[in-house]
Amino acid sequence: MASTQTIRRGLSHATMSEGRLAFLAKLPFFLNSSLKLQRIVHIALEHILVELKSELAVLYLLDSSEEKLGYWALKGENRERLEGTSSVADNHAVELVTQNSFPLVMSDSSDFPSIGLDPIFGTELKNMFCMPLLVRGESCVGALQIVNTSEGEGFSPDDIAFIEQFSHQVALAIDNARLFQAAERHREQLRALDRRKSETISVIAHEFRTPLNIIQNASELLGSKAITEDNKDEMFNLLHSSVERLTRLIAQIRNVSLVQDTGLQLHAELVDISELCRSVVGKYAEAISKRNLAFEVTVPKVPLVVKGEQSLLLIVLQNLISNAIRFTPDGGTIWLIAELDKGQVQVSVKDTGIGIPENELQLIFEKFYEVQDSMYHSSGDYEFRSSGLGLGLAAVRHILEAHNSAVEVESAPDGGSVFRFRLPPG
Ligand code: ADP
Repeated sequence: MASTQTIRRGLSHATMSEGRLAFLAKLPFFLNSSLKLQRIVHIALEHILVELKSELAVLYLLDSSEEKLGYWALKGENRERLEGTSSVADNHAVELVTQNSFPLVMSDSSDFPSIGLDPIFGTELKNMFCMPLLVRGESCVGALQIVNTSEGEGFSPDDIAFIEQFSHQVALAIDNARLFQAAERHREQLRALDRRKSETISVIAHEFRTPLNIIQNASELLGSKAITEDNKDEMFNLLHSSVERLTRLIAQIRNVSLVQDTGLQLHAELVDISELCRSVVGKYAEAISKRNLAFEVTVPKVPLVVKGEQSLLLIVLQNLISNAIRFTPDGGTIWLIAELDKGQVQVSVKDTGIGIPENELQLIFEKFYEVQDSMYHSSGDYEFRSSGLGLGLAAVRHILEAHNSAVEVESAPDGGSVFRFRLPPG
């Protein structure tokens, strides 16, 4: 008679042959001989295929969305290696096992067509055992499936107890390998961040050098009394623009103090966002006209009042607008829009600029992160692609978090970008 059963924990107390107990005692040495996930998976499949004398052994691992499965399989006497991905929904046996964290055993498939034919390997599952891979006693990371023992008699209680213990050890080894991989990735990110910091310090030193050289030359000329009525204005303009450049650099460096991991202490007050937007526009008039950009400001005449710290919200606007200017080619358009939307004050900065690749959309908010190597950026405050310190958006994120808000971005390469945040009315 056909039978599909789930077996709860407990069967593992069934007696197991001494040979298998001895094998299980040695298994950690085999599995822990590598911290590479694929190697562990293959060691596990080799052993289980031989021990159970089965036709097919498959190890499935869920991805982070829990909708896709990565699978590795060993099939037949030739030990054919197969691997790939499939969707959880297409594999009913694995879906049942991973969702319920219970093993599934099937001793005759004829009454269960939805489970009876393996969708990936085209093997008829005459008898099949599928065991969840549970880590730290609870979360299910995948399943181990063993198909068709050569005797064709299905799985004995001894087999089932063995597979259960075997799977626990495999799940543990996989968990270790994944933790190790995550730690490696984290270390690599820290190394990359460290490289970015060093680059940033070089960029800062370089950026300071030009205006400082100008100021130094001008002061030497003043000292040598070489200043005449004719060159006085030119000298004044050079000094003035260099001092402005230094002031802007210091404002950027101020962003560093805003991106520390400790939370920002807000000195909250009532802020009129309409007024703040209007007041910020003038600051960019020169850059906008030099770069032949259109800057459209859509802000209601009435006040849009929120509770927050005005000087910090100003930094948010300045960073977003300065980015829009720097990453929009000459002749493009930038919009600054403040509006009341679903009871919230919403501010958007939109541009027709170069856009951001999808895989970088979250990274740009990391401190010291720039999409392109800063070597490729031009210098100058508002020139197209001019380089910053990779701190502007990190500061934007931290400031908005301190206001219990968040910054959203929609962007596509060459399709422009829009950065948006919302604040509750004050
Ligand atoms: P930076 O001041 O160095 O530009 P940010 O943190 O402000 O640093 O921005 C990080 C990176 O995000 C930028 O270097 C740029 O590559 C990308 N970026 C930010 N805003 C835009 C935008 N509006 N359009 C295209 N890319 C942008």
